[in-house]
Amino acid sequence: MIHVLFDIDETLLSVKHGINRRSSAIMFHKVFGADTDEETIQNAGKTEALIIREVMAHLGTKIRKVPEEAYRVWGEAAGTELEKNPPIVLPGIKELLEELSKKDFVKLALLTGNSPWRSEAKLVPCHLDHFFRDKKSHKLVGVFGDITEKRSDLIDFYKNNFSNKDKFVIIDDSLIGAKMSVEKHTPSILVATGKISVMELKKYSGYVFENFGENRWKQVVEIIENI
Ligand SMILES: [Mg+2]
Repeated sequence: MIHVLFDIDETLLSVKHGINRRSSAIMFHKVFGADTDEETIQNAGKTEALIIREVMAHLGTKIRKVPEEAYRVWGEAAGTELEKNPPIVLPGIKELLEELSKKDFVKLALLTGNSPWRSEAKLVPCHLDHFFRDKKSHKLVGVFGDITEKRSDLIDFYKNNFSNKDKFVIIDDSLIGAKMSVEKHTPSILVATGKISVMELKKYSGYVFENFGENRWKQVVEIIENI
């Protein structure tokens, strides 16, 4: 089995400017009584668990363990915003997911800093969720940002559930994701639809794309088949 692990933000989809900031502000206000948002820190590629602790530390408040309520409220706030303003699916992503989901030796999963709640909020309005649902439980399949502060641990959490004969591929746009693939000896296909350039990403993977549009997704399928 080849497990293809997708990041969400700026890899699968792009959330319109301001939405992440606004929905996080609602969560920080409701759950922590704090007037702040996730963009007060450098948040790209970080897990929700780490973002929440760092934002609160920035205000001088120490948080030991983030309550589940924070992830839930953040997901709900994002859901309300994204229903009105759905995320944009990035070029070639629908075609890539459709093609990969037809192959019985491929398993699609998420590897994301988002919690399961906020992942739902982002994937449902742009109709990408069904590619990642478990057939029985209907839950999203993958590893999420509420289980650890360290994003690079997510790949270990995922791999632990499977045989070491299986293969794993990371698809990501962030520097944190790129570094994780090197650190954890896991092949990656990187895409420059986020903040990091093709040139920078090439330091971490032999497979780097500007985006998956204009049939470049077909090359991605080929790379995965031969990984
Ligand atoms: Mg990303």
